[in-house]
Amino acid sequence: MVVAKSQIHNEVLAANELYAGSFGEKQKLKLPPARGFAILTCMDARLDPAKYAGLSEGDAHVIRNAGGRASDDAIRSLVISHKLLGTREWFVIHHTNCGMELFTDEIMGDLLADSLHTANFDGETWTNPIHGQGCSHGRFLKWHTITSVEGSVVYDVQRIREHPLVPGHIPIYGYIFDVRTGKLNSVEAANDAGMPI
Ligand code: ZN
Repeated sequence: MVVAKSQIHNEVLAANELYAGSFGEKQKLKLPPARGFAILTCMDARLDPAKYAGLSEGDAHVIRNAGGRASDDAIRSLVISHKLLGTREWFVIHHTNCGMELFTDEIMGDLLADSLHTANFDGETWTNPIHGQGCSHGRFLKWHTITSVEGSVVYDVQRIREHPLVPGHIPIYGYIFDVRTGKLNSVEAANDAGMPI
């Protein structure tokens, strides 16, 4: 069966053709990040770590998930980043106006139990436009939502610092990216928690 490709799909491939056409010297890049650091940050579409942190291909590891949270899987990546690929300092970068502040585990569990289709948000409440064929599995997951973005940066830096597979000599920095200004603002308590020990 031939499935018709979407417009987005075709746009991505067209953009890639252009990119690959001028790939040039990048073919010589080494696998370990040349500048020896890693960033853990949110998947939010307004954040572009290559731009906000001045990265080129081959420079650094960027680990992204919803919220930029220090989940077990994010820590798995950070440990590989250091142990096998030599990064020596890490940034945890959350941001203002994060979608992870807009729901709780209970809300997510209820929405999914009712329907898997995209929900609507009116600025206060989430609702499902379509009901039925949901799944209760979402009630058993921890979604790592955020109640205070400053608190989440501190919590995540602390969690990484205290992880038994993370060596004490790696500095871990905590920042909040401001989606209105593009600026990275330091979270002092996180930077204190992330100091090498
Ligand atoms: Zn976010």
